[in-house]
Amino acid sequence: MAMTHVYFDHNATTPLDDKVLAAMLPYLREQYGNASSRHEFGTLARKAVNHAREQVAASVGVQPAQVVFTSGGTESNNAFIKGAAGMLKPSQIAVSAIEHPCVAKPAQELARAGWKVRKLAVDRDGRVDLADVAQALKEPTGIVSVMLANNETGVIQDVAAVAEKARAARAWMHSDAVQALGKIKVDFNALNVHAMTLSAHKIYGPKGAGALVLDKRIELKPLLSGGGHEQGLRSGTENVPGIVGFGAACELAAQRMRDLAPRLTAMRDQLERRLDGMGAVIFGANALRIPNTSYFAFPGIEGETLVIELDKAGFAVASGAACSSTSTEPSATLLAMGVAPELARGAVRFSLGKDNSPAQVEEFVQVLNGILTRLKRLTAIAV
Ligand code: PLP
Repeated sequence: MAMTHVYFDHNATTPLDDKVLAAMLPYLREQYGNASSRHEFGTLARKAVNHAREQVAASVGVQPAQVVFTSGGTESNNAFIKGAAGMLKPSQIAVSAIEHPCVAKPAQELARAGWKVRKLAVDRDGRVDLADVAQALKEPTGIVSVMLANNETGVIQDVAAVAEKARAARAWMHSDAVQALGKIKVDFNALNVHAMTLSAHKIYGPKGAGALVLDKRIELKPLLSGGGHEQGLRSGTENVPGIVGFGAACELAAQRMRDLAPRLTAMRDQLERRLDGMGAVIFGANALRIPNTSYFAFPGIEGETLVIELDKAGFAVASGAACSSTSTEPSATLLAMGVAPELARGAVRFSLGKDNSPAQVEEFVQVLNGILTRLKRLTAIAV
């Protein structure tokens, strides 16, 4: 990178924390044992995995045995949806209309196995509509999945309220908490879910590590068969350095949250006051949101163009969801919220992290203002 880039795309991924790297390094070097081996090398690896399991479990208030390590959020979501479908008679699967593709697509795929796929509506601010949940659950339903915080808008969902309805309907309730972990308190039992998805790389941990947290009373059909690792639920030699990094990242996230949340909120508010003055539409602004995220658009200006111009000026932001950044389709989340496709095409996601400063936010606003003035002048000439 030619210039110093300022990173405002922490919902896509986060930099690895130095302390996390330090915790991982021994397991990438001298302590390379296979956690299933009976000798000293294996025992050290097994101890490290068990310690990480305790750290991850503590971060969401569960017993270590409830944590199944996976390769990340995508795998955990697939493992739950496909694993639950493998145990249940086909009925209805209800997922919110704003789920990440790694929930939406496996849910959609169940249609081929005879499941009825029902999208749960959201309101204009991106909150799952509880009346629609109640309506959906009048049909026999096996699986419900509603994310805790949306990756684009940052809107926090009332998962406990959905879970209460799902349990009353005897459905299994899952929540993708990937974007909530480390940003707000995540308590598995208070949310009353049967299963929850977590990922390490959104909380300053390594990529390729995550977990599916489970209520031990439910049984899933494993995605992968083999050596029977992770209580038979996820065969494959454990990614010991990744798991150790995930554990350390969870512990550090819990320690820093009390100070970090108000700092991020203050910076996000600082940004949004300025955006407001510049004529931006801010999505989900009236809903409860995770503190680091702002999702906005300027009518008549393409989000993709802004992302490119901002990148040239040294600022990294996203347009729409990171995982679908190759497609130019407007965001499905925004369309579900009733946003017009033209405005949705303008969407820019700004997501703060622990190392950002108010000065960087101010600099961003100045640069954005300059870009907008230039683009508007060009549009005026074109007209
Ligand atoms: N769920 C949500 C809400 C996400 O934002 C993401 C990542 O963008 C994922 C799941 C996928 O997680 P992973 O990258 O660990 O597969």
